[in-house]
Amino acid sequence: MTQRLAAGIDIGGTNTKFGLVDRAGKIVFRDHVDTGAFAQAEAFADAVVAGIRAGLDGAALVGIGIGAPNGNFFSGSIEQAPNLAWKGIVPMARFFEARAGVRTLLTNDANAAALGEMLFGAARGMRDFIFMTFGTGVGSGIVVNGALVYGHDGFAGEIGHVIVEPAGRPCGCGRRGCLEQYASAGGLVATYRERTGDRTTPVTAREVAERARAGEAAAVEAFRETGDLLGLALANSVAYTSPAAIFLFGGLTEAGDVLLDPLRLSFHDNLLGIYRGKVDIRLSGLSGADAAILGAASLVWDGEAP
Ligand SMILES: [Zn+2]
Repeated sequence: MTQRLAAGIDIGGTNTKFGLVDRAGKIVFRDHVDTGAFAQAEAFADAVVAGIRAGLDGAALVGIGIGAPNGNFFSGSIEQAPNLAWKGIVPMARFFEARAGVRTLLTNDANAAALGEMLFGAARGMRDFIFMTFGTGVGSGIVVNGALVYGHDGFAGEIGHVIVEPAGRPCGCGRRGCLEQYASAGGLVATYRERTGDRTTPVTAREVAERARAGEAAAVEAFRETGDLLGLALANSVAYTSPAAIFLFGGLTEAGDVLLDPLRLSFHDNLLGIYRGKVDIRLSGLSGADAAILGAASLVWDGEAP
């Protein structure tokens, strides 16, 4: 029998990873292209489709899933993505369908990763959960009744832009005090700098985590403050969809207990009583290197029996 594979593509500002994934979640082929090397989105689609074809090796391509910044599931377009060279509204799913001749689904990267968690990660069998992804930004995907919530316009699930500090730090979205400005790598470093008063010596979020684990007071405080705000935002999110769990992926969460301990305390303290003890805060079950490709391929496999 011909092997059936879904392509998963993760479009990032500098690098685009793609791979071929079977229904069991095994990545059988992977490759990447330099996103910035393509001035035109059409040329980019040409290159990635050629890469996918090269990896098929006789297998049947069932469909293509794409995770992209500012990806709109309904239109299949990438809309005004600040970190990509292609400006305006880019009908990326259509470009891929025209070249590959298979159904192509596109959504934002955090939504795709949430589906990956449900099909292949720690949320298997779970029908209501929230997935949070941490990195240079903070993204989220919300699953209700076993389906991703897209909202009426395709952009639901932006917990990174919930305001946790009114009139707080300016955010790239044009407002102030968004969670992303506190719980991203840059946000943690900014909080740490406020504590130390040193705004010039270079320091990374990973180094702040090492210092916190070594017991440095300013670093521990910076994580406590971050955990407080994150716990507050997550506790408030529970009131909308009553999830069974909240999964945390990547970035700051790799710091471990220096973040998770204050986060769980704040989450518990801020949670409405009827939810107490019913919502697990857990680390993602997806491996960092695979999550993006698995998530994107999940768009294709979602709804198809294993
Ligand atoms: Zn914002």
